[in-house]
Amino acid sequence: MKPTLPSDQTSQPKRNMAVRVTETAETMIRKRHPWIFDQSITFQSHAGAAGDLAVIFDSHRKFLALGLWDPDSVIRIRILQFSKQAEIDQEWFAGKIRAAYTLREVLHAQHTDGYRLVFGENDGLPGLVIDRYSAVFVIKIYSAAWVPYLLWITECLHNMFSYRTLVIRLSRNIAEKVEAAYGIRDGTVLDGEPVVERALFRENGLIFEADPIHGHKTGFYLDQRENRARVEQLAAGKSVLNVFSYNGGFSLYAARGKAKAVTSVDLNPLALESARRNFDYNLDIPGIKACQHETVVADAFQYLQKAASNQQKFDLVILDPPMFAQNQSQIDRALATYQKLTRLGLGVLKPGGVLVQASCSSRVSAPVFFDAIHAVVQRMGRKIYEIERSGHALDHPVNFPEGAYLKCLFARIE
Ligand code: SAH
Repeated sequence: MKPTLPSDQTSQPKRNMAVRVTETAETMIRKRHPWIFDQSITFQSHAGAAGDLAVIFDSHRKFLALGLWDPDSVIRIRILQFSKQAEIDQEWFAGKIRAAYTLREVLHAQHTDGYRLVFGENDGLPGLVIDRYSAVFVIKIYSAAWVPYLLWITECLHNMFSYRTLVIRLSRNIAEKVEAAYGIRDGTVLDGEPVVERALFRENGLIFEADPIHGHKTGFYLDQRENRARVEQLAAGKSVLNVFSYNGGFSLYAARGKAKAVTSVDLNPLALESARRNFDYNLDIPGIKACQHETVVADAFQYLQKAASNQQKFDLVILDPPMFAQNQSQIDRALATYQKLTRLGLGVLKPGGVLVQASCSSRVSAPVFFDAIHAVVQRMGRKIYEIERSGHALDHPVNFPEGAYLKCLFARIE
């Protein structure tokens, strides 16, 4: 069966346009930075529609790069091809997706079939994410410029994988426009069977569910897989508090690692229902069966304050909050919030306990984040022994500075 898409506009390769850019942008392109901002464009051959292929020439009229034009985004061009010309056709996309898969293929041997297959810029496809939940594939686009290429991408995936369902998710800022212009709604099935609410997949042998339509991201925080595995190694015999637990990712690993008891705290009751189901899927694993798992619907800050005033203490505390800094101006406030969390987390951590604190705000750099945690520990007169600082997992490679967002500290606190 050939995939069909809602509108024939999704299969029309667009026109080429010629573009020149500022000297600074030229330098960035030579360094293989994938974004050209609107202010960097000094010449364009015509107005350009979303998805037109912009061919960028240098001051000597030589080819520099080529990318997707997006008239509605401050990132005016997302670069697909650097330094030498190429025909951007279905085979070109297939090559990129194949290369991305080759990097991740090893995960299957680790009993993992839920992973990020394509991580946008970092896999040479800026603005495009493809997540896999076993037989359910989810494409997420961050620019309308990708719409004209969806049929090709779909056909590539169709030819490469035997999926059951292929779903498209649209980032919030483009959803309305894409629906109006192309008739594609967020959550549309592009190919295969109607979407199942709970797509089951394996991560390091644990069974999880993802809801690719209503869930966060594309249904699961795939990026924390390696950090969860680290928690499993540290959890034996411990009481574990997992704050901002979502659907219990860290909690299941802690339980499999033979944690005595695990408490999952989240504001969202649906996420915690899903966490309980995730435990149920894995009851054949002794640690998970034996673990006392409690879910608490609560605001993290209030919960931590109350637990501290009740003298509740845990051996291992995980703090993995949502993104705090959306833009430059929010960095200071974000840092202050991370520090507040560290302070509250230490308030419920036994002496000699382990703190695991993560940040997914790309605007807050790793050194700044780690220093901020250290500063709080010092201020509280406690001693920190770092176990590990971690960054990105294999399926979330980082190939440009803005691509790095995840950092996590594992530390014993006396
Ligand atoms: N640790 C999770 C991902 C966390 S995402 C994992 O490994 O999968 C952030 C979570 O924080 C979301 O589930 C969201 O519902 C929750 N959240 C956001 N603000 C909160 C708050 N103030 N208190 C408690 N939970 C909150």
